[in-house]
This record gives sequence, C-alpha cells and structure tokens, in this order.
Amino acid sequence: MISFDQVNKWYGSYHALADVSASVTKGEVVVVCGPSGSGKSTLIRTVNRLEEIQKGKIVFDGQDVHAPKLDLNRFRARVGFVFQSFNLFPHLSVLDNIVMAPVNVRGSKRSEARVRALELLERVGLASKSESYPGQLSGGQQQRVAIARALAMDPPAMLFDEPTSALDPEMVGEVLQVMKQLARDGMTMICVTHEMGFAREVADRVWFMDQGRIVETGTPDDFFLRPQSMRAQKFLSELR
Ligand code: ATP
Ligand code: MG
Repeated sequence: MISFDQVNKWYGSYHALADVSASVTKGEVVVVCGPSGSGKSTLIRTVNRLEEIQKGKIVFDGQDVHAPKLDLNRFRARVGFVFQSFNLFPHLSVLDNIVMAPVNVRGSKRSEARVRALELLERVGLASKSESYPGQLSGGQQQRVAIARALAMDPPAMLFDEPTSALDPEMVGEVLQVMKQLARDGMTMICVTHEMGFAREVADRVWFMDQGRIVETGTPDDFFLRPQSMRAQKFLSELR
C-alpha cells in the first residue's frame, strides 16, 4: 500500500532521511517513534510531497509519488493526512470543512457529500456539531473533525503526525478512540505518536527512527519488550 525504497532527503546539507526502505501493507497499522529530530515528520510528509526527496522512490496505493505527471492537488486530497495542529478552515462550518474537498476536488454532488459528511461526523461522535464553527469546538473535537475531513476523500491510507500532542490531556483519549476504531475497521495507517499505550494496543508494527534512519522495526512486543539497538533501549528507558 505504501513503500519507501532507498529514500534520501537533505535539507540543504543536512541529511534528514538516509536510505529509508520500508513498507506498509493494506490494513496494517504502523506507529513511528523515535527521538525529537529523528525524521519522523519528514518521513511521513514525503508521502504526500509536503517534503520533496532527492533520491529513492515512494509508492502510495500504486502511485509513484514523484512521477512528473502527478496531479498534486488530486493526489494530496487522496492521502489522508492529520496534523498536530488541526488545520481546519476557521471561516467554514464543520460540515463545510468536510464537504469541501469531495465537492471541489472530486466533483461530488454537494447533496451526496453532505450525507456522507454527516455519516462521518456520526462516526467520530460529532453528529450534533455539523453547523458549529471550528472556533466553537474543543481541541479534541476539532481533531476529530480533521479526521472526518480526511476520511471524506475515501483515502486508501491515513497518515497522522502527532495528532494528540497539541491537546489537553483530557482530550487525548477521545481522539485515540477514533483512531483505534479506524484501525479496527481495517484502515491502513502510519501514526507518528508518543502515545506508547496506543502503540502497544493498536500497532501491527513499530518503526523506531534515529538520525534519519529506521533503525528498528518489529511488533510492539518485540520493540517494547526486546528492543535490539542501544538507541531504542535508551529511548524506551527515558520514557519510563
Ligand atoms: P519531533 O519529534 O521533534 O517532531 P521529528 O522526528 O518529527 O521530530 P523532523 O521534523 O522530521 O523530526 O526533523 C528531522 C530533522 O530535520 C531535524 O533535525 C530538523 O531540524 C530538520 N528539519 C526539519 N524540517 C526542516 C526544514 N524545513 N529545514 C531544515 N531542516 C529541517
Ligand atoms: Mg515531528
């Protein structure tokens, strides 16, 4: 579903991704963790070309991400991406936030997009908030709207970059709950997160990054109970 083949990225002379090769199969949930600055955000941002790469190849749902003829707007809308900062359009209602991409990018009928948006709001527990504006919602609610908005384009996979890091602690659970349900429903997901409880419970595999490389991949049990590298052992010991 998603593959990275010898991916290299430099910011100027700084080597941010070094020979990253890894793949995610359909329905798999991968949690990416690692120290600050290890390249986690950079890695997932390369998938929808928020970051360009200089070497290597990335394939998303059969599409070569760096193909010269790629229609970037259409492509991006198909990659479900959820950011730490929810990035909703403040001047649009919750419903209009969700309806916008299907109508404008995919040419869906507005009436059909509305029906689907209401279903998605139901799914994230916010059916009653369709006419609210983002500023009237809590952070956890806004993030759940952001997830519904991404889902409205029927993405083949969802990417999350620390979706709960900007939330007050009491709102983290409601967002993780929605993500857990998505995982149970078979969504392919790459999640950058510091929520190790989520990783243990939901991930099929953990990728541990350090200095622009994936230095360890394994099941949550492998990673949390039997970390192989010194770096992973150190990372885990500092979490506890
Ligand atoms: P964090 O856990 O703090 O979010 P991360 O693992 O997501 O960290 P990245 O944001 O991917 O790390 O950054 C990887 C490295 O690339 C860091 O050293 C960072 O300073 C550098 N970097 C990231 N974005 C840029 C940029 N736009 N220009 C230059 N260097 C950058
Ligand atoms: Mg990051």
